[in-house]
Amino acid sequence: MKEFFKIEPKLLELDIRAREMCKDTFAEIDRISMHNQHKVLSAFINNKVSEADLGISTGYGYGDRGRDNLEKVFAECMGAEDSLIRHNFVSGTHTLAVMLFGVLRPNDTMLCLTGRPYDTLIGVLGIDGHSDGSLKDFGVNYEEVALNDEGRPNLDEIKSRLKNKFYKVAYIQRSRGYSLRPSLTVEEIGVLVKAVKEISPDTLVLVDNCYGEFVDTIEPTSVGADLIAGSLIKNPGGGIAPTGGYIAGRADLIEKCAYRLTCAGVGREVGASLGHNRELYMGLFAAPHTVGEALKTATYAGALFELLGYESTPKYDAKRADIIESVLLGSSEALIAFCQGMQKGAPVDSFVTPEPWDMPGYDDPVIMAAGAFTLGASIELSADAPLREPFAAWLQGGLNFASGQAGVLLGAQSMIDKGIIKL
Ligand SMILES: *Cc1c(COP(=O)(O)O)cnc(C)c1O
Repeated sequence: MKEFFKIEPKLLELDIRAREMCKDTFAEIDRISMHNQHKVLSAFINNKVSEADLGISTGYGYGDRGRDNLEKVFAECMGAEDSLIRHNFVSGTHTLAVMLFGVLRPNDTMLCLTGRPYDTLIGVLGIDGHSDGSLKDFGVNYEEVALNDEGRPNLDEIKSRLKNKFYKVAYIQRSRGYSLRPSLTVEEIGVLVKAVKEISPDTLVLVDNCYGEFVDTIEPTSVGADLIAGSLIKNPGGGIAPTGGYIAGRADLIEKCAYRLTCAGVGREVGASLGHNRELYMGLFAAPHTVGEALKTATYAGALFELLGYESTPKYDAKRADIIESVLLGSSEALIAFCQGMQKGAPVDSFVTPEPWDMPGYDDPVIMAAGAFTLGASIELSADAPLREPFAAWLQGGLNFASGQAGVLLGAQSMIDKGIIKL
């Protein structure tokens, strides 16, 4: 390492100790990625993926066998009946919106079980005062159950709401997003699904699965969720898919989502793959391994920063439900120094210096470190941080552990250079 990067000898000693601390967790991560890799490989084999599937279609995209077969392969990987996995979902938010608009109808009510949803969903729901084109604009009502004091779903309140009223959709967000609440494990999602279905069997349980895919050996669809959705520039794209999203779950509901993705009466039969099939297959094939590398990077960051005297959540030895690590750095100066240092270790744009800026939709300035092959891909090592209490850097991704480790170390080194950390 010291041959290539300017890193203090004392920090390199901590690097060795941090990796030692991570040993057991790394072994568990390896066990899960191995299981998931075998699952994905067998789905490719069972569905007879062929070279012809990697070809391109243009125009309407009728009869695109590769596209259709990928949806079968992906459904099997997710333990689901069916799926839509397409490059023309433009983002995770778009995918989640297609899922919600796909199943909700005017006068229906959805209930979010996990407090306020991820920032970009607010506009989709129309609960920020600007309702044009939102679910609210189409007559869909929204309610939420706030998280309890520990940041967990409030099961008693959820049950009492479900007993009092029929909700068409119960919505669960697996990952914490930009909050410090614990992310939900698949097991915890299973408990929520069971509670919903016992009281109200006709309520559909939909899960925002972003950042969660392949972190565990099963997905929420295996514990009763009706639909899950996520982004391909996060976990399931394996760092190779250049754009896109997926929805997986019950076949009748996937059909409804397909009518929303394209249009009623046409559905999933169209959509030219334009040559993206190959990248989507390759990305899915790489995903279990890539997610493991990202999990190792997150674990390592937690361990290293613990040695440096900073709190991180989840702790390095905790069971993880997604690939996100929050490192509580305590001040704007520390956040800026860390992000600028991490940027220096990016394979792309290492020479630029990130600065805080007033990002639309945020009340405080945000600083971001990202030097990715795919714009905005957060399965690649990245950190973003709103400059506000508790001055946490949200760290995620890492296509391989060695480069993730270098990025995290360079972040710490930059804090040393600025006199914020004294070794
Ligand atoms: C990333 C993410 C989304 C979708 O975000 P996009 O930037 O639109 O892809 C939604 N929910 C959660 C929890 C996420 O992490």
